[in-house]
Amino acid sequence: MKIAIASGKGGTGKTTLSTNLASYIAENRECILVDLDVEEPNSGLFIKAELLHEEDMFKKIPEWNESTCELCGNCQTVCSFNAVMKMGKMIMVFPEMCHGCFACSELCPTGSLPMKSKKMGELKSYKSGNLNFIESRLIIGEEQAVPLIKQTLDYVDANFSEDRITILDSPPGTSCPVIEATRDADLVILITEPTPFGLHDLKLAVETVRQMGKPFGVVINRNGIGNDGVEQYCREESLDIIALIPNDRLIAETYSAGNLLYPTVPSVKNAVSHIESYIEKINEKMKRDTV
Ligand code: SF4
Ligand code: SF4
Repeated sequence: MKIAIASGKGGTGKTTLSTNLASYIAENRECILVDLDVEEPNSGLFIKAELLHEEDMFKKIPEWNESTCELCGNCQTVCSFNAVMKMGKMIMVFPEMCHGCFACSELCPTGSLPMKSKKMGELKSYKSGNLNFIESRLIIGEEQAVPLIKQTLDYVDANFSEDRITILDSPPGTSCPVIEATRDADLVILITEPTPFGLHDLKLAVETVRQMGKPFGVVINRNGIGNDGVEQYCREESLDIIALIPNDRLIAETYSAGNLLYPTVPSVKNAVSHIESYIEKINEKMKRDTV
């Protein structure tokens, strides 16, 4: 079962929740934590584990072959991302904007845009007890997160069986990277804060997961700051509030020291325990629905 931890914006506690939940579950059974926030992965700051495997990750981008090109302009017309342009007697390819869709390459009548491999990032796989931790990181200057997220998920599918609990620490926001990260999730947990900003971003995130047709629930972090707008919204929309994590000085101190919270903060242990039960409930329902 795959559970994506997502939020409408950064800084709401997504990584804190992902690392604590995965480590808590791994106390009793195998669990996989995948950091898909590939532009700024930081789950690894809280996971102490042994590095088992690392590899470079590549994407394919077209390379122009001037000698065979007839300058028909077809490639520019078919690229939806403005990543290839005809400029006078030249075809320019902008690798940062290319999504590696192969359209220009396949539709070039003279085969003048063969796809070539280009390094986009690195993947590392760690293990500590029952916890497998996978982390991918884009190289500096690489702007396309989606291909690396996709390949990281493919790596997980190829190396781990589906019956394990997999926690996906998604990128923040509601754009393409988060959609790619949550596409295969069986459940999405949206984490937010009880403030007007938190509510605004939660509404956007709810809209996104509803459009994707995913089951989802809400975790409210730093409960006690702000107002009750988020709780009121969840009630009005009949959204499950799975857990509340209080605003607590001990949490801030433990987090700043780079430590997991649930071993020393009872309220966090209580929250991750509730979330694990909720995951179980959804898992049971999914099994019943597929019978
Ligand atoms: S589609 Fe092929 S032949 Fe036409 S301009 Fe592009 S590279 Fe040249
Ligand atoms: S591979 Fe796709 S995204 Fe990249 S330049 Fe060609 S058409 Fe554009």
